[in-house]
Amino acid sequence: MHASKQPQVKNFINGKFERNGQASMDVISPLDGSVISSLPMSTAQELNQAVAAAKAAYPAWSGLTLKERIQVFFRYRQLLEENMEDLSQLVQLENGKTLGESRAEVMKSMELCEFTVSLPQIVTNEIQEVSRGVECRIERKPLGVVACISPFNFPNMVPHWTVPNAIALGNCVILKPSEMVPLSAMRMAELLKEAGLPDGVFNVVNGGKEIVEAICDHPDIKATSFVGSTRVAKIVYRRATSNLQRCVALGGAKNHLIVLPDANLAMTASNVVASMSGCAGQRCMAASVMVGVDRVQHIIDRMVEEAKAIVPGENLGSVISKEAKERIERYITEAEQQGATILVDGRGATVPGREGGFYVGPTIIDHVRPDMSVAKEEIFGPVISIIRAKDVEEAIQIENGSNYGNAAAVFTENGGLAKRVMEGASAGMIGVNIGVPVPREPFSFGGWNESKFGVGDITGKSSIEFWTQNKKTTTKWNPEDKTNWMS
Ligand code: NAD
Repeated sequence: MHASKQPQVKNFINGKFERNGQASMDVISPLDGSVISSLPMSTAQELNQAVAAAKAAYPAWSGLTLKERIQVFFRYRQLLEENMEDLSQLVQLENGKTLGESRAEVMKSMELCEFTVSLPQIVTNEIQEVSRGVECRIERKPLGVVACISPFNFPNMVPHWTVPNAIALGNCVILKPSEMVPLSAMRMAELLKEAGLPDGVFNVVNGGKEIVEAICDHPDIKATSFVGSTRVAKIVYRRATSNLQRCVALGGAKNHLIVLPDANLAMTASNVVASMSGCAGQRCMAASVMVGVDRVQHIIDRMVEEAKAIVPGENLGSVISKEAKERIERYITEAEQQGATILVDGRGATVPGREGGFYVGPTIIDHVRPDMSVAKEEIFGPVISIIRAKDVEEAIQIENGSNYGNAAAVFTENGGLAKRVMEGASAGMIGVNIGVPVPREPFSFGGWNESKFGVGDITGKSSIEFWTQNKKTTTKWNPEDKTNWMS
């Protein structure tokens, strides 16, 4: 795909695309480094307008029944399917992943909408006659105006983790997309409008740090969800909660795959390599460390073969920016200088005809020690560090030593040892013989430790708790008007 010029990015406020005289920033396609658009770097003023529009839309929107509200998402899911090719190309253009990966992302957004339209089957509330003639009921009610802040790595999918459920449950939403990938969010706004969503229920405010801070400080925003790096997740969680907002903030990751010698050779090698190199390693679920237990040389040899068959620009996309490419290559060089062995080296990758693009080839680093920075820090590129361990207990200890805790996986045919890792790993999402253990709907997504701050997860059933509050009502319709110890 060749990068092509796109329309200017605009904010979406009260059902209208608008752009005033704000400062702007270039949108660069990482496929070839060309400028494809520009986005407004909005200020608190635009955020205030969006919040006012959301607040005005809230009484009518929250006044509909859940069954009425989800109708929009039947139509919207259909529009995602009809526009699959366009939407996927846009993801590829702004993010740099392959077209196949971009399609998978849009398909995941469709699955998320399928969960949203099933909400009336799940949110059935509770009622009980607690004394003769006296009933208690619990209903889930929306919060009001809420905000969703997203990262660059899934421009289409991550906003769909939060926006459809938050809206269907009766809230009005402000989305702040990553300034690196603002185009998919514009299309989301267009399609939600086409699906019949009333003006003001969904708003997009573009920009960077300043908008995020204004969201955290806004007295009319009741809850904020954040997905991004741990450094910023901590800032957002602290700032939003100190302003008495509800907040869930998902951070970075350093996912460990524990590979045992009895693991199925072909399946393990291809799963580990796919996990570390898919989306150019820019997935919060990507394998970053492989802990090879005992004699796993045959598996590593096969992984090397698999990685060498991956060609940047063909079956491997770009990383997001020049800075990201430089950072990833710096980590590889540092590991080499500290004595690790580079088995496959992705530094200096280029794609003919797209010399301005930001490519790093798949990289496998062996004999990494747990104290090296490649073993500890999030690299966010197609790089895997192999640490050798003598047994499963040592492997679990290495995994537990990470500050993060998004995902961990084990590859083995031994059920007992797999169970030991399932229990011992300190991570929120565990895989057994699967390299990217993303829980599918209705199961919820979220890590542990420094990979997530706040209570509950961000998707699935857990998101219902986050986007609603309980209303508890006690009624007495008892003609005899008998009072007892409770009433
Ligand atoms: P990022 O933290 O740099 O940016 C995320 C959002 O925060 C963006 O909208 C950005 O504009 C804003 N932001 C950036 N700096 C800020 C600051 N100082 N103050 C306030 N807001 C700021 O993340 P990214 O580089 O866009 O995304 C990659 C990161 O996201 C990786 O660490 C990855 O692991 C993580 N991620 C995590 C998950 C998860 O589920 N845990 C999912 C996807 C991505």
